[in-house]
Amino acid sequence: MPWYARGFWFPDRYVGLFRMCIFCKIANHQMPARWVLEEEDVVAFHDIHPQAPTHILVIPRKHLTSLAHAEQQDEALLGKLMLAARRVAKEAGLVEGGYRVVINTGAGAGQSVFHLHIHVLGGRSWGWPPG
Ligand code: AMP
Repeated sequence: MPWYARGFWFPDRYVGLFRMCIFCKIANHQMPARWVLEEEDVVAFHDIHPQAPTHILVIPRKHLTSLAHAEQQDEALLGKLMLAARRVAKEAGLVEGGYRVVINTGAGAGQSVFHLHIHVLGGRSWGWPPG
């Protein structure tokens, strides 16, 4: 991510406003994706490098750099995201076999795209603790 798009230097709202982020571009149809869900506040699409037979990303349209950047005012949006993840998993047929929901938060935890996203992964077995 370029320096100007980092939350510390450049407030989140400007990153979103100027659509500097790839997930903002996908959410606004400025970049292609394999769409799964499109709602007013939340969208979902298939991960480009799937780590499981089903690997879907659920994101808010609003640019939030990470979960750590969410605030009290985002409470309803976070609820919508979780419920969208639940619906996506159900519609993908993942409930019976089980599925994993992951939010990598910060580079140290493996976050590589700095727009909040929920990974919904399923279709294989999982170990714990995660790597
Ligand atoms: P994370 O590492 O948790 O930030 O996850 C970012 C995810 O976004 C990775 O699994 C990438 O494979 C995925 N990704 C990156 N670019 C795209 C894209 N253009 N379309 C779909 N998924 C993407």
